[in-house]
Amino acid sequence: MKNSLLSQRDLAVLWHPCTQMHDHETQPLIPIKSGHGVWLEDFEGNHYLDAISSWWVNLFGHANPIINTALKAQLDNLEHVIFAGFTHEAAIELAEKLVAITPAGLSRCFYADNGSAAVEVALKMSFHFWQNRGQSRKTKFITLENSYHGETLGALAVGDVALYKKTYAPLLMDVITAPSPDCYFRDEGESWADYSTRQFAHIERILQENANEVCAVIVEPLVQCAGGMRMYDAIYLKLLRATCDKYNVHLIADEIAVGFGRTGTLFACEQADISPDFLCLSKGLTGGYLPLSAVLTTDEVYAAFYDDYSKMTAFLHSHSYTGNALACRAALATLGIFETQNVLGNNQVLAATMKTLSQRFLNHPNVAEVRQTGMIVAIELVKNKHTREPYPWQERRGLQVYRYALSKGLLLRPLGNVIYFIPPYVITPEELALMFDVAWQAITA
Ligand SMILES: *Cc1c(COP(=O)(O)O)cnc(C)c1O
Repeated sequence: MKNSLLSQRDLAVLWHPCTQMHDHETQPLIPIKSGHGVWLEDFEGNHYLDAISSWWVNLFGHANPIINTALKAQLDNLEHVIFAGFTHEAAIELAEKLVAITPAGLSRCFYADNGSAAVEVALKMSFHFWQNRGQSRKTKFITLENSYHGETLGALAVGDVALYKKTYAPLLMDVITAPSPDCYFRDEGESWADYSTRQFAHIERILQENANEVCAVIVEPLVQCAGGMRMYDAIYLKLLRATCDKYNVHLIADEIAVGFGRTGTLFACEQADISPDFLCLSKGLTGGYLPLSAVLTTDEVYAAFYDDYSKMTAFLHSHSYTGNALACRAALATLGIFETQNVLGNNQVLAATMKTLSQRFLNHPNVAEVRQTGMIVAIELVKNKHTREPYPWQERRGLQVYRYALSKGLLLRPLGNVIYFIPPYVITPEELALMFDVAWQAITA
């Protein structure tokens, strides 16, 4: 009863993200009363395994005791303070830690309060850097096909997922879109590295021809998450770094989804042994507790803005909640868990279990591909395994899987016809087995 009462009140006044609200005439909303570890509980005692880490943000479970304790202590001292002219310990300590653990050369930390805002900051900083350096022709950005960088207008412009972008196209700045290294499209028998290298030739040519007008290339390292968990080889990032250097173009690494251990290393860029000029972080940064984002950049970029006030070269981008103390404290507690527990080692074991458990899907007649990078597994559903003909989108196969899985206590949120798993790192092997079992039943049903 309580579930449906809350649902009614919600639907009378609320408007939810990423939702055609009309769907809720048939698909009930699920009010959640509490969360513990990987489990969510509604008001009628039903439990749901959060296999998508509540939109990829949760790393160490709901109501994590370590993060809870840190937040309660912070709350009694300082909740928030203006971050211009003032500072506080949590913000300083977090920036010190981020500078220390991110790839070499990233020595400055700029805060914002969500992923899209971090992308806006990186785009503006890159453009403004070239302006301050007298390179006023540099006004364009290069992005990859099928990429996603958020949904504010600037972030949307450098993304390429039609579902989010198409309607707003007339409002968006022009960008140069390069073919993706997405290995779903590699030839039979071709390795990820070979295909990614082959696809690199396109962006290399684009850079060669347009570098004078280009501020930066923006990429999601290793996994294009919202674009259907499409994956590629680290060689692409290595080549891209070298070519951006060659042509004097910045590299923006958007690790908002893949940062903090998701791909096997703390940051995905480590697998290519590169440092970007800008690193965007959010989502897992606070362990899934509070909205916060950070853009890490270099001494060189910082120096281009650092001058006498009268030169008017300062970077002006501000959010009221910049450097929020509670959010910074949650992030510090999250990083503390990485420091005191063998998270990456444990993730390796979990990823191996995910690999084993996902193998059975390979033989399913409607599965074209099972792919994995670290703690992300994706299953590509198709109508015809051999031709890879997709299901018509109108059939909403993913939604059917979502509904079935929910009825069995599993929260999945397919992207179109891609079923994916991106669980919190505190999931157990038994819970992983349950997750894949229910998904199997859901796909088969
Ligand atoms: C989620 C995401 C964003 C946007 O972050 P929000 O906090 O949702 O605005 C940007 N880039 C990538 C790669 C993401 O996955």
